[in-house]
Amino acid sequence: MGCTKVSPACDGCYAEALMDKRYGKVQWGNHPRIRTGKHTWNDPFRWQRQAEKDGDRPFVFCASLADIFDNQVDPQWRAGAFDVMRQTPNLVYLLLTKRPQNIVKMADAAGGLPANAALGATCEDQPRADKNLPALQVAKIELRPLFTFGSFEPLISGIIVPKGLMPDWVITGGETDQGGHKSRPTHPDWFRSLRDQAADAGAAYHHKQNGEWLAWGQVMADGTENYLSYGKQPEFFQQFGGEIFSKVRKARSGRMLDGVTHDAFPFVGAV
Ligand code: SF4
Repeated sequence: MGCTKVSPACDGCYAEALMDKRYGKVQWGNHPRIRTGKHTWNDPFRWQRQAEKDGDRPFVFCASLADIFDNQVDPQWRAGAFDVMRQTPNLVYLLLTKRPQNIVKMADAAGGLPANAALGATCEDQPRADKNLPALQVAKIELRPLFTFGSFEPLISGIIVPKGLMPDWVITGGETDQGGHKSRPTHPDWFRSLRDQAADAGAAYHHKQNGEWLAWGQVMADGTENYLSYGKQPEFFQQFGGEIFSKVRKARSGRMLDGVTHDAFPFVGAV
């Protein structure tokens, strides 16, 4: 647990809102990281036994309260986590980072990337895509993960994926409010563009959520279209890029894009 903010996607860090601001278990920033307890470290073994019984390969989002490639984490903890991964081969570990430049050296120092790990980088805007996707590509070539993925969430600008750098799996999402951080709206054209670029490149596309805001004319979770007006208060209403947005909240905004639910996952073979 614990991390330091490194990019605009960190502005509304969910882990900080929960573990620092709400529960006071760890201090964010340049402070010691906290190792989670025995129970948490045992969970993967439980999931592995279940996966063996079911004969499937569930996806596990690793280190949801931290960044697995954070410089301030004790390298022994990372090596320990990689050992757990090697001992639970049915599980597919999603290692998402905002520090993809660290992946190769840190994975090497931890005894090599486990065979059941997938590597991902957060790309919330064009500068981060231009910086992080090349680093992810280097890690892909050097370490041969199960697959690579790009987390384009919270998407806060339009993104053109640099040529040849499309990850195997594209995940998009809008931002949600976290503690004192107020979410930024995502223009539907930014989602549409990534959906289409993923299709052109043959990448799997998953649209996770629209966030708190929804453009007018977009379909909500209940199947109706959003034409909710909250007047002109900037708190609930914004207008840009030829669209009108209202803050309908996450549950209502749902996860459809132009009336379609995008739920693709990359294919992973048997163990
Ligand atoms: S890298 Fe992730 S965990 Fe760390 S501050 Fe940013 S959003 Fe939070």
